[in-house]
Amino acid sequence: MIAPAQPRRPAPPEAVLDERDGAYLRQAIAWSQVARERGNRPFGAIVVAADGRVLAEAWCNTAETGDCTGHAETNAVRQLGSAVDRKTLASATLYSSAEPCVMCAGAIFWSNIGRVVFGIDAVSLRVFRGERPEQRDAELSCRDVFDASPHPIECVGPALIDEARLAHQGFWKS
Ligand SMILES: [Zn+2]
Repeated sequence: MIAPAQPRRPAPPEAVLDERDGAYLRQAIAWSQVARERGNRPFGAIVVAADGRVLAEAWCNTAETGDCTGHAETNAVRQLGSAVDRKTLASATLYSSAEPCVMCAGAIFWSNIGRVVFGIDAVSLRVFRGERPEQRDAELSCRDVFDASPHPIECVGPALIDEARLAHQGFWKS
């Protein structure tokens, strides 16, 4: 029997957000509800420039598209395309309803986005995911990926956990 994997690091305590970060994270959480209403896993993300311009808004669309890489954060990065320059992205923030997985953390790294704010953390999310193999994620914190980046990626979260978890209640099969 394989022992359950231990998280490489526990989730840090819940962060307190200012009004601006709170408003944008709630927007990402709203997209997680949209994802669920459309039959997908409940995740949402937005990218916001330092001047407040919303550069991308996305939801997880893996069920709609059949594309297993269609996570909200990766979809948001894809939306940016070449329309936004790397300097703008370095001072931009990606808001995600949940802690980015290892693939999305990689996409954020490649995009040059310099800051991430997320809602529910991966450790808390695993309570919903349970032990079903097809629902489990790779147990690596997004901070492990960001810490390995040669350019700084600030990471704030978990935050607004009680609001972010609502979209997950009753969604995952136990
Ligand atoms: Zn992901």
